[in-house]
Amino acid sequence: MKTTRTILLFLAAFVLSVTASAQSFADKFTIESAETVLNIGERIERGEVIGEADWDSLFATKGYSIYNMRDSQREKIKDAMILAFNPARRAEADSICQLRPKVDTPALVLCQNLCRLAKRTQEARHFLGSTDFARLLAKADSMVQNFIPRRATKGTVALNDLHLICFIPDATVRDKAVLMDLNLALKMSEDEIVRLLAHEFFHNYRDAAYNIDSRDTFLKVFSHFQNEGMADLIDKNEQPEKLYVAFGEDYARLFLHELADAPQTLLQIDSLLTAYKAEGNANGGEYGPLVELFVFNGHPVGIYMARLIREQGLLGKLIAQFDNPYRFALIYNEAAKRKNRHGGHEYTLSQALLQHLKQCSQ
Ligand SMILES: [Zn+2]
Repeated sequence: MKTTRTILLFLAAFVLSVTASAQSFADKFTIESAETVLNIGERIERGEVIGEADWDSLFATKGYSIYNMRDSQREKIKDAMILAFNPARRAEADSICQLRPKVDTPALVLCQNLCRLAKRTQEARHFLGSTDFARLLAKADSMVQNFIPRRATKGTVALNDLHLICFIPDATVRDKAVLMDLNLALKMSEDEIVRLLAHEFFHNYRDAAYNIDSRDTFLKVFSHFQNEGMADLIDKNEQPEKLYVAFGEDYARLFLHELADAPQTLLQIDSLLTAYKAEGNANGGEYGPLVELFVFNGHPVGIYMARLIREQGLLGKLIAQFDNPYRFALIYNEAAKRKNRHGGHEYTLSQALLQHLKQCSQ
């Protein structure tokens, strides 16, 4: 009985705290851009011609203005909307949706995404009208606390805003805001959206805590691995390729290939250090051969390392060092060695590389 009461009190306190913090997220999101797309879409469906002033006002809405699209991108959105929402061109839209997008055909991905959205406008309007985005943001902030140390104090870090827009099935970050595609959001469960937002909040907390000055190219790469790898534990741990499926099978396959190849990539990075040191970093910028190995913004190698750390029971240790790429590499090695003691074949980073990262961190 007492236990039940304690649980109920705990739950009540949790609900109250989420409700209270939901209020603080009340002005941290907009749905205006996505709604304007649906409004213009309805007019196209009725056969109206959309004037330049209407398009300008669409791209002046908060989400699109933060995205700051190039003219060519605006034209692609306009063309895709004119096709997607026109009932007379439905067969054309359907056949475009049958095409298989390639890695180098982002315009096709955009067009297909808007054609698919045009088929579910009722559902999209209901979603925009009924979703409590402030509550989702508050839940994401609660969730991310499990992945950052206490010292990354809640409430003092500026978290990203959220704006729903329509473009490719992706969520991207610009100018302290998450720009999320409406059609992507429609396909996700509430938990998936919360996790995605928590992933982005992780970056906010880590960026605020990160205080290493070095611009060393190796340290930067490992910092990206740590940043994306830890954030991916929040939203892509089970199926890391999942979000790339929306871009087409080719993207997902390429990502999975890079993920499986992560130990090999680490070995290659490691073997570059000697040459890098011998050549010296004359131009002081990025090291070309290293940049070539850095794909998908560090996600595949990052999540490979972070997952191994979690699997070997070292996540708590990693969280305590969430803003330190040298410690991340060190903890990764500890995890790899643990696994190798039990028959694993994980790549362990060389002492020379660890030493280099350590020196750069001081
Ligand atoms: Zn990220």
